[in-house]
Amino acid sequence: MLGPVLLAAARSDSIRRLVSAAPVTRPMVDRFVAGEQLDQCLRSIRSLSGRGMEVTIDHLGEDITDRSEALRNRDAYLALTEALAAAGLADRAEMSVKLSAFGQALAGGHDLAYENVLPVVEAAAEAGTTVTLDMEDHTTVDSTLAVLAELRKRFPGTGAVLQSYLFRTEDDCHALAGEGSRVRLVKGAYKEPAEVAYQDKREVDKAYVRCLKILMAGKGYPMVGSHDPRMVAIAQDLAGRYGRKQEEYEFQMLYGIREAEQERLVAEGNRMRVYVPYGTDWYGYFMRRLAERPANMAFFLRSLVSR
Ligand code: FAD
Repeated sequence: MLGPVLLAAARSDSIRRLVSAAPVTRPMVDRFVAGEQLDQCLRSIRSLSGRGMEVTIDHLGEDITDRSEALRNRDAYLALTEALAAAGLADRAEMSVKLSAFGQALAGGHDLAYENVLPVVEAAAEAGTTVTLDMEDHTTVDSTLAVLAELRKRFPGTGAVLQSYLFRTEDDCHALAGEGSRVRLVKGAYKEPAEVAYQDKREVDKAYVRCLKILMAGKGYPMVGSHDPRMVAIAQDLAGRYGRKQEEYEFQMLYGIREAEQERLVAEGNRMRVYVPYGTDWYGYFMRRLAERPANMAFFLRSLVSR
C-alpha cells in the first residue's frame, strides 16, 4: 500500500519541501545519487569504470514548469557531454534523459522536447557516445516513442526504454526489436491506472519475461534493466537459447542498488551498465526508489523518529 502513496508524494511540492529539509534525508539520498555536482559524478564514473562497469548518466531534473528550465537542463547535458569527452570517458558512459526535463509536459511540449534534446543527441554522437530516452508515465509514451523514431533517423543508436507493467508494451517490443535497436526493458516505476497497466507484481513479472523473449529473439540490442535475480537468470537463459553472446546484450542496474550482484555479473564476463543519477533535483528519483522497496521506506522513517 505504501508504494502508491510514495509515488503520489513524489509529485507533491509540499512533501518535497518537508522531505528535502529533513536532516536525515541526505545520507539516504547519497545511497542512490552520485552527488549534486558534475565532478562528484565523474568520480563515481571513474570508480565504476575501474571495476569493469559501463554507465549511463542521468542529470536529475523532471516535471519542469517553464521553458527556461528546459534550456538549463539541455545545457547541463551539453556540459556533461563535453566533460565526458574531455575526461576520456565517452566510450564507457552514455546518457539517459527524461523528456519531461526538456519541456515535454509544457504547451507545445512534444516539439519543444524534440528541439531541446536534439542538440544533446548530436553532441553525444560527436563525442562518441549516445543517449537513451528514459520512459516516464503512460501519458508520455506515444510522444517519447515518436521523438525516438525521429532521432533514430539520424542517430540509430539512440536507446529506448519500455516498461513491462503497461499492457501495450509487448506490441512496442515487437516494433522495436529490429536491427541495431537498443531497448532497455524495465518493470516500470510510476503509479499507473488499472486501465493501462498490470497492478499485480506477478503479472508485471510475467509480462517482463514475455517482453524479454521478444527482445532476445529479435535483432536488436536488449538492455536488461532489473535487479530481480529471477529476471537476470531468465535473461541469461534466453540469451543462450537465442544464440546471443555476452556482448550482444547487457544488464543495467541503478547506482547503489545490489552492488554485489553488479560485481558478480561483471566477474562472469557480462556487460553491466550502472545508471548514475546526479544533480540537485533528486526528489522525484529518490521517492521512486523508496516506493520500490518497503524496507527503504522503513529505514528512512526509523531514521526520522530515532533522532
Ligand atoms: P523488483 O522486483 O522491484 O526488485 C527486485 C529486487 O531488487 C528487490 O527484491 C531488491 O532486492 C532490489 N531492489 C529493487 N529496487 C530497489 C530499491 N529501490 N532499493 C533497494 N533494492 C531494490 N523505470 C521507469 O519507469 N522508467 C525508466 O526509464 C527506468 N529506467 C531504469 C533504468 C535502470 C538501469 C533500472 C535498473 C531501472 C529503471 N527503472 C525505470 C526502474 C524500474 O522500472 C523498476 O522500478 C526498478 O528497477 C525495480 O524493479 P526491478 O526489476 O529491479 O524488480
